[in-house]
Amino acid sequence: MSKQKVPYKIYLSEEEIPKAWYNVRADMKTDHRPILNPGTLKPMTPEELSPVFCDELVKQELNDKDRFIEIPEDIRNFYKMYRPSPLVRAYCLEEALGTPAKIYYKYEGGNTSGSHKLNSAIAQAYYAKQQGLVGLTTETGAGQWGTALSMACGFLGLDLKVFMVKISAEQKPYRKGVIETFGASVTPSPSNTTQVGRKILESDPDSNGSLGCAISEAVEVAVTTEGYRYALGSVLNQVLLHQSILGMEAKTAFEKIGEYPDIVIGCAGGGSNLGGLMSPFMEEKIVGKDTAPYFIAVEPASCPTLTRGKFAYDFCDTGMVTPLAKMYTLGATFAPSGSHAGGLRYHGMSPILSQLYHDGFIDEARSVVQTDVFKAAEMFAKAEGTLPAPESAHAIHATIEEALKCKETGEEKTILFGLSGTGYFDIGAYMQYNDGTMVDSIPTDEDLQRGFAAIPNVEG
Ligand SMILES: *Cc1c(COP(=O)(O)O)cnc(C)c1O
Repeated sequence: MSKQKVPYKIYLSEEEIPKAWYNVRADMKTDHRPILNPGTLKPMTPEELSPVFCDELVKQELNDKDRFIEIPEDIRNFYKMYRPSPLVRAYCLEEALGTPAKIYYKYEGGNTSGSHKLNSAIAQAYYAKQQGLVGLTTETGAGQWGTALSMACGFLGLDLKVFMVKISAEQKPYRKGVIETFGASVTPSPSNTTQVGRKILESDPDSNGSLGCAISEAVEVAVTTEGYRYALGSVLNQVLLHQSILGMEAKTAFEKIGEYPDIVIGCAGGGSNLGGLMSPFMEEKIVGKDTAPYFIAVEPASCPTLTRGKFAYDFCDTGMVTPLAKMYTLGATFAPSGSHAGGLRYHGMSPILSQLYHDGFIDEARSVVQTDVFKAAEMFAKAEGTLPAPESAHAIHATIEEALKCKETGEEKTILFGLSGTGYFDIGAYMQYNDGTMVDSIPTDEDLQRGFAAIPNVEG
């Protein structure tokens, strides 16, 4: 009975949606390495960034001073359509595991885009609209970001051109259907509609595409089309800023029930859901409070950016047209095998997350093979009645491991993990798992070496 003191779902009121985003960079101790112009190797100036991103987002991208940045009223009103998202106590998973640990998850799969990405999509579209732009370009891998941004652009009456990684466009035609319903156009990438796309197709006509390559195409179109800018769904400082709403809501919900997480776990692709969930808790870690949680990042063994990558300046895209960012990277030419966690198949990692990991503030990174990920997903689905996104199931896997450790030691740790999205668009992957045809792939050291060889030699 005592276990029932906390409700299954801890909801906040609309009024408790944060009024400002939290900018963890303002509290970070290590000087944040600037993004560099690949030609001059000098820090990118606002003037150089303004053809790519709209002006307000350039300011946010470069802002390492202001701890809080106000959320405009119109964005908060959009948030009210699908936020606050619930913090859920996973009583049934705890019982299935027989663990004394208390497991909580922040669920972001309840909106039509099916993931947390809508939190940044609406912000990016809003500032573009404010600036009087015609539209945005973007890339999408698994499709979640393209869907989220199409919803935001559709809502605000902005045009959107989405470059979708070719293999995903083929594997997930339904995603394309949703994106088009919201009024955006979808071009499979690499395409022959851009210079960089044609170049990539010349060297590899059968290319399946990659996020890095789709980014190159979207950036090219943005900077060469009047009234357009480019939007990116992860990795950037501005995206982590917008996603801080995850951690802020979670923190408020924990305050309501008088609990606090000992462990915070998230899957990491470009780092936005983990970065957003973690940053309001990271504040304490940075000032050295011993109540600060233990942070775990989880990634696919097929794309092991944090666990096997290098911390170096690298390009954010395959075509090498973007600025250089100091981050954990597998090299911009690294092409991960066809893992089903499409949202985690990126060669780099958010510079904020990378720095925090490098400095030891993120305590641990783990990689998991996909059959183990789906095993965790299946267990979670059966216990909690929610089908998780394959990306999110990486966090579930680590949560189960930690909860089982508590079972051994008898510790009643409080675990928070990010359930970043729904698995409804990944039924094909679940079918493969169910019929036993899913295979695991782990790149060899030689595979990684090829990617590392393409990392530019830049000090800093
Ligand atoms: C895109 C995506 C991810 C990975 O991206 P991050 O920027 O690392 O959060 C994780 N989960 C879901 C559901 C996604 O759509």
